[in-house]
Amino acid sequence: MICCCTPVNQHRCDYMDIYAEELIDNYEHPHNKGKLEHPNAEFHGHNPVCGDDITVYLDIIDGVVKDVKFDGDGCSISIASASMLTDAIKGKNIDEIGKMGFEDLKKIIGIDPGPARLHCATLSLKALKGAAFIYEHKPMDSETKKL
Ligand code: ZN
Repeated sequence: MICCCTPVNQHRCDYMDIYAEELIDNYEHPHNKGKLEHPNAEFHGHNPVCGDDITVYLDIIDGVVKDVKFDGDGCSISIASASMLTDAIKGKNIDEIGKMGFEDLKKIIGIDPGPARLHCATLSLKALKGAAFIYEHKPMDSETKKL
């Protein structure tokens, strides 16, 4: 398993053992990985702390997410989070996605990533919301920028 931990927070790797098995499974076999041929919107997110890169592609019809994919490279948490998040938002209204926050993401991934891995976990949510804002021709709000 790829680990992005710096020596300072290396001890956090131990927590990997107790992370939900589902999370590890989603990292090893990510769902919705790849690109959409004709996305309505896409957004690339980068986490400089860890080097995670995630691009989310949305296929939206009548304001509803018909299909979603993500592409990129990142640590276990960032990939697992993107996999579980993209599964969770299929069929959702674009307005619901615009209102999603960290609490919603925690429920989806089933863990609290802690401060050291916070931006690994939230990167896919930021990219997803970024794509939704682009679709709606709205500027990214300050809450999403902080993710
Ligand atoms: Zn990371």
